[in-house]
Amino acid sequence: MEFTQSARSLEFKARVVDFMDTHIYPVNKRYLEIAHSDRRNDPEALAFIDDLRAQAKELGLWNLFFPHLRDDEPGTGLTNFEFAPIAEEMAKLPWASQVFNCNAPVTGNMELLGAAANEAQRKKWLRPLLEGDCYSCFAATEPEVASSDATNYQTTIVRDGDEYVVNGRKWFISLSMHPKCRFMILMGKTNPENPNRHKQHGVIIIPLDTPGVQILQDTTVMNAYHIGGHPEILLENVRVPAENLLGEPGEGFAIMQKRMGPGRIHYGMRCVGMAEVALGLLMSRAKERVAFGKHLHEHGSVANDIGRSRIEIDQARLLCMHTAKALDEKGVKGARKEIAMLKIVGTELLQNVSERALRVHGAMGVSNQTPLASLLGLGMHLSIADGPSEVHLPGIAKMELRNHDPADFQKFYDIPNRTRV
Ligand SMILES: Cc1cc2nc3c(=O)[nH]c(=O)nc-3n(C[C@H](O)[C@H](O)[C@H](O)COP(=O)(O)OP(=O)(O)OC[C@H]3O[C@@H](n4cnc5c(N)ncnc54)[C@H](O)[C@@H]3O)c2cc1C
Repeated sequence: MEFTQSARSLEFKARVVDFMDTHIYPVNKRYLEIAHSDRRNDPEALAFIDDLRAQAKELGLWNLFFPHLRDDEPGTGLTNFEFAPIAEEMAKLPWASQVFNCNAPVTGNMELLGAAANEAQRKKWLRPLLEGDCYSCFAATEPEVASSDATNYQTTIVRDGDEYVVNGRKWFISLSMHPKCRFMILMGKTNPENPNRHKQHGVIIIPLDTPGVQILQDTTVMNAYHIGGHPEILLENVRVPAENLLGEPGEGFAIMQKRMGPGRIHYGMRCVGMAEVALGLLMSRAKERVAFGKHLHEHGSVANDIGRSRIEIDQARLLCMHTAKALDEKGVKGARKEIAMLKIVGTELLQNVSERALRVHGAMGVSNQTPLASLLGLGMHLSIADGPSEVHLPGIAKMELRNHDPADFQKFYDIPNRTRV
């Protein structure tokens, strides 16, 4: 594996770090105060983020994650491999990626539109996202059905003349309450009669101000509300032009794969960055605090935590770089095993390291005086969002088993098992 970074990746990383130090970390307190207040979706309160976005865009620190950029589109798309170390830096402050127009779930939607939209759709829906004029959300999960099995989605998308009529209920629709969010990309049933359950769904674009779209109550995540929300949305006889359908009816699963690949790899990159922050805090506290006559890092179990965390972070980063390279070279389909592995490794890493760091901080660790409780919560909820680990693991096993030939291992049964070496 060759992991030498390109000069432009190194240059963008240095500029992103500098921009974060100069402009973003100094306003973090302000962001957190708004996030924990009733003004969390108030455009006036969030206006300072628009100012930061304008500055980042002006400097070309924009759409760095997006490899499908065309010459007339704003920003600097890097390959996934080039973007990985930059995503890691952005993630050290979890809200910072939006300043560079590199935030979920909008990135996944841009990837999807970049890969699946026709020319007219690209102009109408992708262009404003690339410009940063608006955000969008993604609506797949439904309260009534086990949504880790996407064939379960029941929302209907029915053709009626030049329109589609959409009926259903979605929830955990992240960012849909943000004042900049203009449309959702929704997955629902277009072809319920198809005997193949993977060819029953389609994907359609729905502006949030379409009559019949009703945002019901917001949902907390780990007991906290978030900017942009994760609410439940009711869709009642929602009519949109037929040209809003992406691809063909019944192609929903094939289209969704284009979104899931890069989206999931970004989680892995971000988890590595956040785990570095957690380990840094763990060591700071362990060097400063004395218990039973020794600094905390001099106690064996804390030293083990530090060593174990370093091993796990470096392992995850290697997998991240390997996965990014595989995605660049083989596409989502060719890299799907690596992408699934990284989603699990990254979210487990964040949970492990942030929990160790939290414990070393004692009571302070569970308070709001460190980001550790939030990082632990993030690790947990990211391991459920976009497909729980329990679903990815059997998927990885299936691919492994497909490549396994018992004949290759017969020789290990043939040798006398009790031979001394
Ligand atoms: C913070 C957050 C943000 C989200 N944002 C969005 C969003 O923007 N848009 C959107 O559409 N969705 C979003 N989701 C929803 C997320 O994608 C779903 O929660 C996820 O796909 C699981 O679906 P479910 O909640 O219906 O769980 P279920 O399908 O009911 O599964 C429940 C549990 O069952 C277990 N399980 C399921 N299948 C298996 C299996 N094969 N083997 C063993 N165990 C299994 C797992 O432990 C799983 O967690 C978000 C979720 C979270 C937590």
